[in-house]
Order: sequence, then C-alpha cells, then structure tokens
Amino acid sequence: MSQEIQFADLGLAEPLLRAIADAGYTRPTPIQAQAIPQVMQGGDLLAGAQTGTGKTAGFTLPILHLLNAKPITVKPGHPRVLILVPTRELAAQVEESVRTYGKYLKIRSMVMFGGVGITPQIDRLKKPVEILVATPGRLLDHVGQKTLDLSGIEILVLDEADRMLDMGFIRDIKKVLALLPKQRQNLLFSATFSDEIRELAEGLLHNPGFVEVARRNTAAESVQQTAHLVAQSHKRDLMSHLIKQHKWEQVLIFTRTKHGANRLAEKLNKDGIPAMAIHGNKSQSARTKALAQFKDGDIPVLVATDIAARGLDIDQLPQVVNFELPNVPEDYVHRIGRTGRAGASGAAISLVDNEEVKLLKAIEKLIKKEIPLTPAEGFTPPKKSEPEAPRPPRPQGKPRAQSKASDADHKHGERNARHDRPQHPRPNTPAKNNPARQNQKSKPRMSEAARNQAKPQPALFNPKPVGRKR
Ligand code: AMP
Repeated sequence: MSQEIQFADLGLAEPLLRAIADAGYTRPTPIQAQAIPQVMQGGDLLAGAQTGTGKTAGFTLPILHLLNAKPITVKPGHPRVLILVPTRELAAQVEESVRTYGKYLKIRSMVMFGGVGITPQIDRLKKPVEILVATPGRLLDHVGQKTLDLSGIEILVLDEADRMLDMGFIRDIKKVLALLPKQRQNLLFSATFSDEIRELAEGLLHNPGFVEVARRNTAAESVQQTAHLVAQSHKRDLMSHLIKQHKWEQVLIFTRTKHGANRLAEKLNKDGIPAMAIHGNKSQSARTKALAQFKDGDIPVLVATDIAARGLDIDQLPQVVNFELPNVPEDYVHRIGRTGRAGASGAAISLVDNEEVKLLKAIEKLIKKEIPLTPAEGFTPPKKSEPEAPRPPRPQGKPRAQSKASDADHKHGERNARHDRPQHPRPNTPAKNNPARQNQKSKPRMSEAARNQAKPQPALFNPKPVGRKR
C-alpha cells in the first residue's frame, strides 16, 4: 500500500532524501509513491493527477535522480530536461520545486515564460542549464532566436496537459515536439482525459506506465460545500457581509472575469477588507506580490480568475468562494480542491444567480453530490444596488475550446470574458421557497451563453490504454 511506502524505499539518491526531509515531508503522497519508481526506470508515463496531490515532486524527484545518476557536461542553452506548463505561475512554482528538491545536487534549472523581458532569459541561457521549465510561446520565441537548442532533451514533461490544450497551446506543443530528439522519455500529467488528451498521449507516449490518484471530486468530499442563491448585482455586498460575519482570515474568491475580479477587490477594499486581484492583465510582478502577501497572511482576500489561479500552490486554504460558478463543471472541482488539502478540512461557498442554477446542477451531476442552497444568514440585500454594466453574450461553440493563445496574448487571453450584465435582483431564498427557481424547467431563464456552458463536459480522467508499441 502506498501509505506504507517511505521515501527511503523509493531508491532516491541521498541528497534528494535530505532535501525531502528539509521540506518536512514524512512520506510520499500516493502519486509520488506510484510515479517515482516508474519514472526512475526510464519509461514513459501517463499520470492522472491535479495540483495539490504532490505531482510536482512526483516527476521532479525522479528526474533529478536520473540526471544526477548520469551526469554529462551540458553546453549553454542545451538543456537535458524540458518541463512544459500552461501558465507562468505554474512555471515559477515548478522551477522552485526543482531548486528545493535539487538543493544538494549540482543541477541547474531555469524558468522561462512570456510577459516579462526576454533579455535576462537570453543571458541565463548563455550559461549551462540542465532543467528548463517553460510555457510554450516564450520557449518557441527562444528557439526562433536561436538562443535555445532542444536537440539534447532527454526527458520531456507535459504538466497540466489538459489545461495547455484548453488554452489553445496544441499547435505550439506540436512545434516543440518536432524540435526534440526522437529518443527520449516522455511524462504526461493531466487532470482529465478528454479525446484531445488521448490523441496527444497516443502520439507522444510509447508503452507508457499509468498512474492515477483519487479524482479531485472524491477528495473534495472533505470540503463542506454550500451555495447561496443571490442576484448578481447583490453579490459584492454579500461577499463583504460573509467575510465580516465569518471573520475569514484567508479566502480565495474566484470570479469569471478579470473586470469582475477588479470590481470585487475594489468594493472589498472600500468596505475596509484588504483584497487584491490577480488575473492575466496584471503584470507578473503584481501577481507574484499579491500571491506572496496572501500566502503570508498579509492580505485576507485574494480574488482570482481561473487561469490566474491555476496551479497556485496555496496549501490548506480554509475557505474558497465561487463568486460566479465556473463555465465548466470540472473547474469547480479544481477550485474547491484548494481547500482541505492534505486531509485538512475546508469550506467552499458558491454565490449562485438564477441564471447559474443550471451550472450548479451540472456541477452536482459531476460530483454526484447535492450542494445545499441556503439563505445567507443575516444578509439583507441593499435597496439600491450598483447597476451592472451591459454584458455581451458569450461566444458560441465548444465551451472549453479557446483560440490559440501565445504567451503574449495569454496575458490577455484568459477564458473569454463574460462582462457583467444587467440583473434582476431576486430575494435570497432557498430553492424550494423560490418560485423563480421552481419555474426553471418550464421557463428557462438562462442566456444562450449559459446554456452553452451547461452542455455536458468531458469526463474526468478515465483513460483506456494508450500509446504506440515501440
Ligand atoms: P503539487 O500537487 O505538486 O502542487 O503539490 C502540492 C503541495 O504538496 C506542495 O505545497 C508541496 O510542497 C506539498 N507536498 C508535495 N509532496 C509532499 C509530501 N510527500 N508530503 C507533504 N507535502 C507534500
């Protein structure tokens, strides 16, 4: 059983065990117990795991072990390992993990992403680097400028591959793959297993080993989940009320749009609640600063869009709020997975406007659990609420698919913005007392866009055997 396996049983080099002990880890997480031995054997791997499972150490530790066991002199700009990730934050975190676990080894790493100056990266590439963690667009910029040569890559990791595809990186990924030597080890990590991921895995992996850890939706059972039915135009007031009422000291709030994140942070600050927003339009340094302040407990509220929050390593968050329900039910699972990590308990509250009730139903179907809609205790909606700005309908089509986003336009290319739209304030009453909700079936109030969002989504990770025979 993985619970009984110790790090010492995995055959990792002693300097790695020391770094693990320094990090305070007592035993491997299930994904680590399964993935580390397989990666150390040198084969390809298909892994179903999400942020929060310890997956980063699951591939970082055996990679460091392999490089350490087979040292070679690398030329500047010729890395041995490429770890491709969807977002800048994840890139920074993964590279930090490489440094944390590799601190007693002579293995050099570098992180590379867009939205920041390219010159320091070019300068860094003039020195040898073994492990490169990168987002696809900036990586290709470097290859184009001939500051980077991928012909020496021995190990490729695609981390959060499903998210990379969601963000439109498939063409960039294919371009990167074409630059790599044929003989190499491939590791693919994905939280979900859509047809697109299956296709990618089939083209990429050779006789892969397969590991999977508990789906987030089962892990999420430890998270106490509730929802309040509230008009969109009252949500900001309710948010202030909830934070004050519960005296929350650390709450991560998800909004669907960057504009919505800004407006909410402004409103909370106005009400005396220090809050910061992070999203794709914020500079990298602003995002890093906000995250650090939130993690250190200097600001109690962080408002984030899904993509900005993706991959954020915030442990054991006590409280998550969905200011709006996500378009894709799986994103709900990702969001609430930030609470109750490492067995700690957590709570997730969703603010649900009438138009979002169908999204709530889709989420309940996915997690196979009812999320009770309760009235927000002690909240009286203000008589005069701020008018919502007009909101154009969401683009039609497949909800998850996005147009291609390079790193540069990824800065502006988070999920298609749903601008605020006019709302009709409705009393904050539970479903059974709420005629508007009771009538939902006979008289759908959902916008075309919301209907689109509520369409069935690909199942969570559920792979059949993939991979070509060598
Ligand atoms: P990840 O899923 O890779 O984003 O990791 C989530 C968090 O788990 C990070 O803060 C890691 O530092 C932490 N972590 C990773 N492995 C272990 C372990 N074996 N024991 C305790 N915490 C861990």
